[in-house]
Amino acid sequence: MTSPWQMLAGNLAVVALFVLAWAHARFWLRGVPGASRAALFGTVMGLGAVSTMLMAAEIAPGRFLDLRLSLVALSAFFGGPLAAAITLVMALTFRVVLGGVVLPAMVTIVAVAAVGLVLRQIVRRGAITPWHALGLGIATAIVPSTSAVVQQAWTMLPNLVPLAVLNTVAIFLAGVIFLQARRFAAERDLLAAALAQSPDYNYIKDQHGRFVAVNERVARLHGFANPTDMIGKTDFDIATPERASALFAAEQSLIAGRETQVELEELLQDETGAERWFTTAKVPLHGANGDMIGIAGVTRDITADRQLRQDLIDSRNTLSYALEEMSDGLAMFDRQGNIILCNDQYRALFPYTSEVRRPGANLRDILQEVVKTGEQLSIPAGHEAAWIEQIIGNLHSECEEEVNLFDGRWLQVRTRPTSEGRTLVVVTDVTRLKNAELALHSAADQLKHLVRTDSLTGLLNRRAFDEAMETEIARSARTAAPMSLLLIDVDRFKAFNDEYGHPAGDDALRLVAKHLRGSLKRPADMAARYGGEEFAAILPDTDEDGAYLVAEAFRRSVADAKLPHRGSERSVLTASVGVATYMPDNLHRSAAEIIQVADEALYSAKAAGRDRVFGTRVAGKQRRYGTHN
Ligand code: GH3
Ligand code: MG
Ligand code: MG
Repeated sequence: MTSPWQMLAGNLAVVALFVLAWAHARFWLRGVPGASRAALFGTVMGLGAVSTMLMAAEIAPGRFLDLRLSLVALSAFFGGPLAAAITLVMALTFRVVLGGVVLPAMVTIVAVAAVGLVLRQIVRRGAITPWHALGLGIATAIVPSTSAVVQQAWTMLPNLVPLAVLNTVAIFLAGVIFLQARRFAAERDLLAAALAQSPDYNYIKDQHGRFVAVNERVARLHGFANPTDMIGKTDFDIATPERASALFAAEQSLIAGRETQVELEELLQDETGAERWFTTAKVPLHGANGDMIGIAGVTRDITADRQLRQDLIDSRNTLSYALEEMSDGLAMFDRQGNIILCNDQYRALFPYTSEVRRPGANLRDILQEVVKTGEQLSIPAGHEAAWIEQIIGNLHSECEEEVNLFDGRWLQVRTRPTSEGRTLVVVTDVTRLKNAELALHSAADQLKHLVRTDSLTGLLNRRAFDEAMETEIARSARTAAPMSLLLIDVDRFKAFNDEYGHPAGDDALRLVAKHLRGSLKRPADMAARYGGEEFAAILPDTDEDGAYLVAEAFRRSVADAKLPHRGSERSVLTASVGVATYMPDNLHRSAAEIIQVADEALYSAKAAGRDRVFGTRVAGKQRRYGTHN
């Protein structure tokens, strides 16, 4: 009698056949909906179960030994209730047809299906592993043994061990194969989807340049409805002969191993006829044994990238052109006071620190260099650190400053904060403007001086005298200080002119002016030409004694000059002086009054014989005095 091992070995082959058939079919059925697939699975497993029963050995009257249970268990565990139901119907029906001890056998079949479904439910949440398959095998193997014990079919016992072992082995192996097939199918699906749906143009060619696989985009680009339509075609079928030849030559150098990669950029027409830029990379493909098996290519549409790149280059060029062509120096600083960019003019404007004024340099370092080299004038000595801090503090506020450089140039520095927290510094050479401004200032000063000066004598003119009088009257009244006024008239001057001529008369007036200036000792004293050959002197804070001393000193110095004057009483040029003094107790003062008082004193001096000083004190009580020499 053949051993149960031998009997079951044939069964194992049948199980393997059906399991492998399904594993293979599964890949082709991946597009079929889940329920239909489960039904098909259940049918295939059912056919397997029937086949094992056809090969069953009758070990006792009406008792058959085969591996039907493993197929039932697999159907329930991997296929679920629907698959299990179909397999059950087929297996049970055939078992009835076989006859013999039908009922216990049917119960066993149903119990195994139940075990498969329960285990499926248990592992549902996690991923199925080979260990689960082993568990399923062991659980399935236990069922017929239990059944035999329940039936007290002791004659079966010697056959149950090989049955249990082979059922376990069959289920474990089938489980491993199913899992493997599932994983391969999923991986292939993923790769196929990635290739087909990639936004790039992907294709694989054989050694002769024929397309072996292309994705949907490649097919569409070349006007093919379906990727499979392109298989077997070459570049000569889809491109101009010149381009196809060039592409072919490049691919052949890849195949010959002269190149490891081919990259090219081309301007081509897309499927709509629009011109677009494409970049292509091709690499040789080697099989597992290292043989060259073809070429893989990836082409990308880089039109937008190129446009962006071109726009960037254009705007950079425009910016640098503007920066280089502008006459101003320009620098941009970041939040931390580092230079982000600056033009050559900016550096050239600062000859001593041009080297440190570069992108990346910090304002603090630049300013320290400015201090060290003495590039800028007017940095407060001893307070350099504070000066640096102040400029750094102002960097991000809008301000404008004029800077005087060591070489006399003036730079206008304007800081303008930008919205991104940066600061634009614009530096303009304003030397010419500044010099013109300074010249204008000095011209204005000169003009002011001229307007106030008598051109013949260089003394204050009448207008300046009037202004000075008003100011001094008001000031002295406010401070209750004395003040004096001298009015001077050259004696017999008409006769001098007649005798010596007008030009000599002018010289004489200059001489008198010189002596008047020489007689005034205080800086606050003012001498003026009052008109014609008349002069005046304002003596602030001077009482009558002081005024008399000044007037007398002047009179004497003119006479002592001994300028010949035949027509005068003394035969030399002389002058008469009228003095008026406001004393502190008189605070009602006016220019007209003091001038009139001085004029009257002068008149008295003339009347008294000329070449003398007469004075009047204007006070609560007036006092007149006079010299007679
Ligand atoms: P006295 O004052 O002593 O009474 O006699 P006087 O000859 O000086 O008298 P008067 O004041 O009338 O004469 C003033 C003369 O001064 C008139 C004019 O010829 C002369 N004179 C006035 N202004 C100028 C001047 O700018 N240059 C010259 N050369 N002569 C002047
Ligand atoms: Mg006169
Ligand atoms: Mg006179």
